[in-house]
Amino acid sequence: MNPQYQYDIFVIGGGSGGLTVVDEAQRLGKRVGLADYIKPSPHGTQWGTGGTCPNVGCIPKKLMHMTALIGEIRHELTATGWQGVDPHSKNDWNILVNEVQRQVKGINKGNDDWLIATNGITYYNKLGKLKDDHTIELIDKDGQSEFVTAEYIVIAVGSRPSFPTDIPNVKQLTITSDDLFSLKKAPGKTLVVGASYVALECAGFLTGLGYDVTVMVRSILLRGFDQEMAERIGEFMKIHGTKFIRGTIPSSIEDVDGKRLVKWVLNGQEQSEVFDTVLLAIGRSADTQNLGLEQVGVQTNKESGKIIANDADSTSVPNIFAIGDCVQGRLELTPTAIMCGKRLIKRLYSNGNQIMEYSDVSTTVFTPLEYGCVGYSEEAAIQKFGKDNLKIFTSEFTPLFWNFANRKGTCYAKLIVKKDDDVVIGFHYLGPDAAEVTQGFGVVIKLKAKKSDLDNVVGIHPSVAEELVQMQTWK
Ligand code: FAD
Ligand code: NDP
Repeated sequence: MNPQYQYDIFVIGGGSGGLTVVDEAQRLGKRVGLADYIKPSPHGTQWGTGGTCPNVGCIPKKLMHMTALIGEIRHELTATGWQGVDPHSKNDWNILVNEVQRQVKGINKGNDDWLIATNGITYYNKLGKLKDDHTIELIDKDGQSEFVTAEYIVIAVGSRPSFPTDIPNVKQLTITSDDLFSLKKAPGKTLVVGASYVALECAGFLTGLGYDVTVMVRSILLRGFDQEMAERIGEFMKIHGTKFIRGTIPSSIEDVDGKRLVKWVLNGQEQSEVFDTVLLAIGRSADTQNLGLEQVGVQTNKESGKIIANDADSTSVPNIFAIGDCVQGRLELTPTAIMCGKRLIKRLYSNGNQIMEYSDVSTTVFTPLEYGCVGYSEEAAIQKFGKDNLKIFTSEFTPLFWNFANRKGTCYAKLIVKKDDDVVIGFHYLGPDAAEVTQGFGVVIKLKAKKSDLDNVVGIHPSVAEELVQMQTWK
């Protein structure tokens, strides 16, 4: 302990990464300070402790996704002989939002109780700003400041939705995922702008909840992901009612009697349509403005605002670290922010030497046809190893129950295998319970298993996962 400073370590931002740092450091008996403050969205939406994931990210998103999947079962119940089920029954948005928010508030309360009751943690519901390399200014909601000092500082301020700069009043005329999960009024007919994780997940569950949903895609679906899988997700969503407008972006958005008149240009022609809600999901920007980074000498990418940190999470100022979504080149996922925070504290205080590895991280896109993957996409594998050096195994299948209950669409899986050593370098699965199926294959890929190892596994029957250990057809 360095008596020169009030805190051994001070964390700015109490999301997935920041809270992990706080927890790990207090367990080791360190004096820990935390500033977490939620700046309201342009519509004034605010939330409690825990950061993006439990409040406006993973948790409310998954609950709404699951609700939409449950809705699908209405049709299947009828098809499989259940009596008295109305397959056309409607979802009540207000009940759903209240239940989602009840769950979120429960998580907030757990965090609040822990932050207050744990010895060694001092929590400030204040905006943190760097004053010098060991001093943080803490500003409360009324603009009052106090200053604290720390030996180490960790920046974990996350990211917030981006807005286009060329559409007048865009912040007032649109909502983002920051507003959606607590929206007081049902979104109604919705235009979702964007085509990645957030856009497709939200479009998927809103369609499943019964809303008329159109996705406006600037270029491709799910940039960075295996494109064959991405296109199959789009096809499945189309079959299940989501509409797509591809190859354009809104040129203007206007208020017309409380609705949104959206115009765009496609193939040289101006087109327009009126929506109840426009949900922007065009990416996220690091929440690093007004953090005092420049003044203290912490380098950022001028364009994205992301903090530049080395493999050991150190910024250009050696005692200031940065983790999670606000750092350049990191995967923007809760479990990566958590593991990164854990490893940082082990390295700082318990002789740890492991840095965070960002390769072979499993992830799942919770679209109506869920997509789990780990390792290389087909495009990335071909670029790195060359097409002739790969075997790409694929399998299209329909889960037993889907056939039984007349569900439309098919599932698909792909394994990417290096010819020279038979190692599986890419796993892709489109089907039910993708996150549950993919987590185990994350271990397979991490252990550098060979295709022949998978061929030696006896499948579980009847299941969808058995498809993945008996793939014999390669492209
Ligand atoms: P955050 O969790 O964003 O926390 C940052 C905190 O810092 C916030 O509380 C913020 O208010 C606070 N803050 C900012 N500036 C200051 C300041 N100056 N002073 C004090 N406090 C400040 N990931 C998954 O793994 N699975 C999913 O299914 C998933 N779904 C998602 C769905 C949506 C709609 C979104 C938007 C994201 C989703 N993510 C998902 C991504 C995941 O939520 C983020 O990667 C994760 O929350 C990042 O954690 P973090 O600690 O870097 O930042
Ligand atoms: P992304 O940065 O991944 O995608 C942005 C999307 O918006 C792209 O489709 C992009 O198109 C499009 N876009 C960008 N600018 C414009 C514009 N001006 N007009 C129209 N479209 C535009 O952002 P997301 O918000 O979807 O996700 C952020 C991160 O959050 C992800 O990287 C992910 O790590 C995390 N997340 C994780 C989830 C999970 O684990 N299930 C779920 C949700 C989020 P183009 O391809 O043309 O550039």
